[in-house]
Amino acid sequence: MIDIRNLSKLELEAKFTEMGEPKFRSGQVWQWLWQKGITNFDEMSNLSKPLRDKLKELFFINTITLDKSQYSADGTIKSRFKLHDGHMIEAVLIPVVDDKRFTVCISCQVGCSLTCSFCATGQMKRVRNLDPGEIFDQVIAVNHLSMAYFDHHITNIVYMGMGEPLLAYNSVMKSIEHITDPKGLAMSPKRITVSTAGIAKMIVKMADDGTKVNLALSLHAADDTKRNEIMPINEQNNLKVLMDSLKYFYKTTGNRISYEYIAFDNFNDKLEDAKNLVKLCSQFPVKVNVIEYNNVDGVTLTKAKEEKIDEFAKYVRSKGVMISIRRSRGKDIDAACGQLANKD
Ligand code: SF4
Repeated sequence: MIDIRNLSKLELEAKFTEMGEPKFRSGQVWQWLWQKGITNFDEMSNLSKPLRDKLKELFFINTITLDKSQYSADGTIKSRFKLHDGHMIEAVLIPVVDDKRFTVCISCQVGCSLTCSFCATGQMKRVRNLDPGEIFDQVIAVNHLSMAYFDHHITNIVYMGMGEPLLAYNSVMKSIEHITDPKGLAMSPKRITVSTAGIAKMIVKMADDGTKVNLALSLHAADDTKRNEIMPINEQNNLKVLMDSLKYFYKTTGNRISYEYIAFDNFNDKLEDAKNLVKLCSQFPVKVNVIEYNNVDGVTLTKAKEEKIDEFAKYVRSKGVMISIRRSRGKDIDAACGQLANKD
């Protein structure tokens, strides 16, 4: 038996031909799976009962189940999902109701191998990559929450939850295909952002593969010494190598690039850090998002003071760089990435 959602469109068509079924039937099943997000063959109501039974004999569908949600007073909803093998992952709905912006932040791995020192997920070992279907299911599940609580569909997706997307490349790209496919969720790739800790050769591959989604680099420090200290991945992918790969990405795709910059108290929030950051913004158009940190137990880095963040952003902006500050969301829940999934 195989998971039907691991098949490509062509593979699914071939299976239907083997089964002696017409091609349009595989198209109907495709739409149930990727447009309606159905994970139970019995709900595929335009298929005959004998065909549904045949599908159940040949295939299964591994899905995720909602285990727990936490609701913040600011509207943020963080959900923990159980995978078929018992592992936990999380996804977050971040609503900005006035702007009608409903962003879902999704996970792509159980745990993470990159051990960034400030990250709760980095304290967990990497167990496995998610299947494309398990990534897709988070979008469907959070969309249901968004509809239930805000009467609005999700509008944006960020691959910024647990795990490094460029190390779960195939699953991430397949899930994007399903989300953007006109016969899938038909979402614009411009509304999707893949966020990486910075793996230069994979950034180049993404560009060569003709991706249409936006790219965010989790920068967090604008010089190699500081970046090495908090993100070990920087030792093999230093800032020069990363900037070259991003320049290539921009030249090849023209897609939007942003830097995520978590401001840590007395670590990367000084004027000299702002100056270094400005230098990294001169090579291609880039927007900087300065993010307020949610403190994590056992991590010595702590959130920068609001005044320091404001001064920092003011300086960077004065040099003509687009910069915005993202105030912390979900302060009253386990908002940092990996905090809820890692709990008993
Ligand atoms: S910040 Fe991202 S890449 Fe770094 S350990 Fe956490 S999940 Fe992994």
